[in-house]
Amino acid sequence: MDEKTPVENLPRVGPSYSKKLKRLGIETIGDLLYHFPFRYIDYSIVSSISQAQPGEIITIRGTVVSFDNVYRARGRCFQKAQISDSSGTISVIWFNQAYLAKLMPKGTKIALSGKVDLFAGKLSIVSPDYELIGEKESIHTGRLVPIYHETQGLSSKWLRSQIHTLIKTQNGMEEFIPPEILKKNHLETLENCIKQIHFPEDRNEAEKAIYRFCFEELFMLHLGSLWRRKHWQETKKSTALNIPQERILEFQNSLPFDLTGSQKKVIREIFGDLSKTKPMNRLLEGDVGSGKTIVAAISILVSFFNKKQSALMAPTEILAGQHYATLSKLLKPFGVKSVLLSGKKKTKEKFDLAIGTHALIYRKAKFDHLGLVVIDEQHRFGVEQRAELITTPCAGKEEITPHMLTMTATPIPRTVALTIWGDLDLSIIDELPAGRQNIKTWVVPPQKRDAAYKWAREQIINLKTQAYVVCPLIEESETLGSVKAVKTEFERLCKTWPDLKLGLLHGRLKSQEKERALNDFKNGQTQVLVSTPVVEVGIDVPEATIMIVEGAERFGLAQLHQLRGRVGRGKDQSYCLLLSENPNQTVLRRLKALETTHIGMKLAQLDLAHRGPGDILGTQQHGFGGLKMASFSDTALIEKTGGEAKKIISKLDRYPLLKERLKKYTIAHIEPN
Ligand code: ADP
Ligand code: MG
Repeated sequence: MDEKTPVENLPRVGPSYSKKLKRLGIETIGDLLYHFPFRYIDYSIVSSISQAQPGEIITIRGTVVSFDNVYRARGRCFQKAQISDSSGTISVIWFNQAYLAKLMPKGTKIALSGKVDLFAGKLSIVSPDYELIGEKESIHTGRLVPIYHETQGLSSKWLRSQIHTLIKTQNGMEEFIPPEILKKNHLETLENCIKQIHFPEDRNEAEKAIYRFCFEELFMLHLGSLWRRKHWQETKKSTALNIPQERILEFQNSLPFDLTGSQKKVIREIFGDLSKTKPMNRLLEGDVGSGKTIVAAISILVSFFNKKQSALMAPTEILAGQHYATLSKLLKPFGVKSVLLSGKKKTKEKFDLAIGTHALIYRKAKFDHLGLVVIDEQHRFGVEQRAELITTPCAGKEEITPHMLTMTATPIPRTVALTIWGDLDLSIIDELPAGRQNIKTWVVPPQKRDAAYKWAREQIINLKTQAYVVCPLIEESETLGSVKAVKTEFERLCKTWPDLKLGLLHGRLKSQEKERALNDFKNGQTQVLVSTPVVEVGIDVPEATIMIVEGAERFGLAQLHQLRGRVGRGKDQSYCLLLSENPNQTVLRRLKALETTHIGMKLAQLDLAHRGPGDILGTQQHGFGGLKMASFSDTALIEKTGGEAKKIISKLDRYPLLKERLKKYTIAHIEPN
């Protein structure tokens, strides 16, 4: 048996248990050993019965003196036992566990852990954890007891004994972190840490083990990123493009505005990449409205003037349509022929720029000389999908990889970006075009919500403006639950605002229906668009000036900032109302940051400090499961592990176990070799 052995091969784990384990993501012995407790209950104080004080959480060890099943109506029952040691006797109650009678007949030696109470002047423990005292080491009582994420039919207790047996019988997993790194960073070996994270002698041991696994997690992420980067640089080749400075200037002069300093800086960075034979692999971060599209347009022009095709992919058809409208208008005067690939249509046309969703684009068009691929809102595509996007176009004629530009409005703090996407070069647009008005933002507590809706209605009617109403975040990805919630909200609003025309938008609509809902809103036929949070982050309707977010406390600040970015796209003052169902002051205070802060990156930093990066990477983050152990706010550890990873990346061949492990962190078709 080794770490790759399927859990089915373990004693006491049949097909039924292995199915349940799978629900927890556990398929192999290695997975089981890496199913770490998320907390411990401290049952380490062992007391004699006479010393037990009401209110204390303790472990006592004694002998069963009596055990009775007491039956009640409707098949319910409770269990009453007396346990004594040399100092005294205590009463114990369990509920509906008649089978315990068999397990602990009179005379059984038993350990109980739980909270001591006083009932009718007598010491008792209700529903304690219990464990028979025998030759085996105590694992459920009398110590720090690990508590695990459970699933139906699979309790912490079951997991605990499985993991315990495994640790006892297997002499652990093989260390894969190089010894000099362990030593330098004062890390315990893998074998010890596995033992100590599950069954620590004390807090200190648990903490040491936890530290090692945090280190390991970040170290491996860094190493994975570095490995992908190295692979990209060593194996991919592209065509170096000429930068036709004059024609680019001509394009810039055709715009009704000057580029911001940030846009210019980013364009310079991109030009630097494009003029090399090593394909560009760059991540462009910039707030909503910071003008990423123009940057993409200029990159596409460079490709075009070098007689190459470009592809632009968006996460949804609606966004693809919007990009098509904008880009074809901007680029047509320069001779660029754009096509929109949507629905079932395949194109035989000749084109310079193809726009579509990532799912469609390569299937719907033939690229003979693809020079540039632009991916918008890349955070929606995980590492895996991105790899596919990169490799697909060059399948068959592997010699040439197009230059890749990925764009996101998600303000991913540099530390986070460098850990997860360390294989990408990073460009950040950190200023908005001059003259943009801040979106007036108010946090609305529950008691003011009616007034807020009344105000919004008046605005819509008097100023002939339009509003979005975004429903609370219910689950990670859009499932039936969210759809139901948005429908309910829609019906409620139809009743509250019978004189307004409302539209409904969610991910389960057919693409035609979606398009209709969106077009109606764009054309002003509907005044209010009620939608789920996950759809259409990049919608552009300049006439809409009000954004109402329901259940705002359920969102991260950076996410709210992105939602807010759907308004404020025209000349008129725009507003964002953050409605909270929670009157709690701390909750409201967190949201209030949005009233004064209008820079996405700052809000992302606040999120990081508050709740970790889940909020930033947001709900659309696929392919990257987030961190299990470490935290992205632990900048010191991120830097330390990054440094160690950099030192070792070129020497990977010396560490076959580490290299093997790294496969988990890279991707199937570009495994380290
Ligand atoms: P995003 O970064 O969110 O994709 P867009 O590229 O859609 O932003 O730009 C938002 C709006 O700002 C567009 O209408 C665009 O024409 C405009 N814009 C872009 N750059 C500038 C600039 N330097 N000055 C003024 N307006 C700009
Ligand atoms: Mg955009």
